[in-house]
Amino acid sequence: MVNDVPYEIRDPRFALLVREAARLERLWTGGTWLEGPVHLPASGQLLFSDIPNDRTLRLDEVTGEVTVAEQPAGNQNGHTLDRDGRVLSCEHLSRSVTRTEHDGRRVVVADRFEGKRLNSPNDVVVHSDGSVWFSDPTYGIDSDHEGKASPSEIGASYVYRVDPTDGTVSAIVTDMVQPNGLAFSRDESILYVADSGGSHRGADCPPVIRAYPVGADGRSVGPGETLATCEQGFFDGFRVDDHGNLWTSAADGVHCLADDGTLLGKVLVPEVVANVELVGARLYICATTSLYAIG
Ligand code: MG
Repeated sequence: MVNDVPYEIRDPRFALLVREAARLERLWTGGTWLEGPVHLPASGQLLFSDIPNDRTLRLDEVTGEVTVAEQPAGNQNGHTLDRDGRVLSCEHLSRSVTRTEHDGRRVVVADRFEGKRLNSPNDVVVHSDGSVWFSDPTYGIDSDHEGKASPSEIGASYVYRVDPTDGTVSAIVTDMVQPNGLAFSRDESILYVADSGGSHRGADCPPVIRAYPVGADGRSVGPGETLATCEQGFFDGFRVDDHGNLWTSAADGVHCLADDGTLLGKVLVPEVVANVELVGARLYICATTSLYAIG
């Protein structure tokens, strides 16, 4: 147990989403910058990244033990599962999105756009049509801290879609500074994307999540609108729950936003949060050096 009062309730709706008796647990510590949690239901594990230490870690949900799943790990960042339960990984070092097959082979899903190398894929989701959507900010090429310093060949940071049929990589969101976390609404009519470009542009780039309407063909989005602006730090990774609420990282914990952007409440965490994973009512939290859970 880390703190006695883990919640800050801003809206009565939040009280219905959390258990008053729940306590924040620190499951593991010893990382440098944790990111990219994904739950593997078949094996009862949670994979997550420790990017600067170039390792992917594995929590065994039964024993609570955390072990190294992979090192070196290509400075992996975000992870997700595809419809067949295969792990997709964003790799800073190889500047690619990869998929690990059930037999362990790793194949490249995307590493170029119009012939140019990607920057450093950060976070990834899969649409029900099998297409892979990922963000490509520059954090993995800005320095050697989370990858390898290199110039951007594309010269911009976009969200891309990889076609499930022919593998074509298309730019989908092109009006952000540093697109970061992303997720679809439950009905996939909206693509939510966080812009963490304040890291490079300061106050010129507010820390927002924007909502982009997905086209009827599922292959494009319309103009985005600001859903919410972060009041502490900036939004990085987030997940959408079964009710359509967003559970997003922030500097002071995890913020829960209604689908209209209203801040319903917070899970207070004593370290800066980068990313979360929802497993039923349980929330896993990657926060700087430590993995936490609540619920
Ligand atoms: Mg991220």
